[in-house]
Amino acid sequence: MLDNKTIEYINSQLEYDNKLDVISTNTQAVVKISHDLIINTVKKFAKKNKVYLLDIGCGWGDFSNKLDLYIEDYIGVEPSIIELDRFIKISKCNNRSLVKGFGEYLDFIKDNSRNVILLNSVLDHCFDWNKTIENCIRILTPGGIIIVAMENSEKIPSRLKRFLKINVVHHGHLSYLSGVDLEKIFQYGFQTVEKKTTGFLFGFDYLTKRVPVSFKVMLTFNNVANKIFQNIFPNSGHLLYYVFLSNLGGLVNNYFENPFICPSCKNDLLFGRPDCQHCKLNIKYLNSITIDSIQLTKEMEVNILFPLFDKKETSVK
Ligand SMILES: [Zn+2]
Repeated sequence: MLDNKTIEYINSQLEYDNKLDVISTNTQAVVKISHDLIINTVKKFAKKNKVYLLDIGCGWGDFSNKLDLYIEDYIGVEPSIIELDRFIKISKCNNRSLVKGFGEYLDFIKDNSRNVILLNSVLDHCFDWNKTIENCIRILTPGGIIIVAMENSEKIPSRLKRFLKINVVHHGHLSYLSGVDLEKIFQYGFQTVEKKTTGFLFGFDYLTKRVPVSFKVMLTFNNVANKIFQNIFPNSGHLLYYVFLSNLGGLVNNYFENPFICPSCKNDLLFGRPDCQHCKLNIKYLNSITIDSIQLTKEMEVNILFPLFDKKETSVK
């Protein structure tokens, strides 16, 4: 059973609002550098393969837009109804299927049905990142890649705090992982094909918030600082960037074309149909491209939705 703090966190994720905040030019530069790494990896992969992308924590569709040129087919998973509504309003919607849900519960997506999985700032928000990883490994086809970008628990300020015996807290997150942790998670059946840390100047926001420095200048500063610090402290930038290539198994059938499965009877699920054509399981949709997976998962209902609907009367242990 999940503890109260985690349940509260999950419930807050259901209404997370990115708001497209105006962020400092330094943060914009840091984010741009991290996002460009993801775009370049997908671009490179797309030269030899059609891309069937699973974007976990897809938010309002930032990567759906940025990677549009390279995507053959796209599934985005996102818990927040606010972000999903925004996705529909401002993002590309052809070849897109969305799922209101969590990376921990992907029972309705088939094994070997995707060849690129993106986890951008996801694992440290998961209430059980092990489950999310298990799902990714199951859904990814051999020869496919998993891209992980997230904050680094071994960034210089955290290392300094540990050295000074100050407690390191990752505010607003449920876990805090390092590159070594990621390499351990993917040590069997995967090859690390890209690995670096960036964002060494992340803390410089205090400067650009006070003194207006243009985005372009901050981008140059950040690129130079990254180059220098990547040589001195290669594992200690603010952000991790890893790409893992799956060499699990030999020949398998791919299910790129029809990736959805009924979580109850395990037969093919026709996306858009209000029930499973085999076992008649009721399937709820938020709109023509968004399935509401939270209603499909019994365990999820018990663990999460109960306290949400019935906070006063249900005691959660
Ligand atoms: Zn069924």
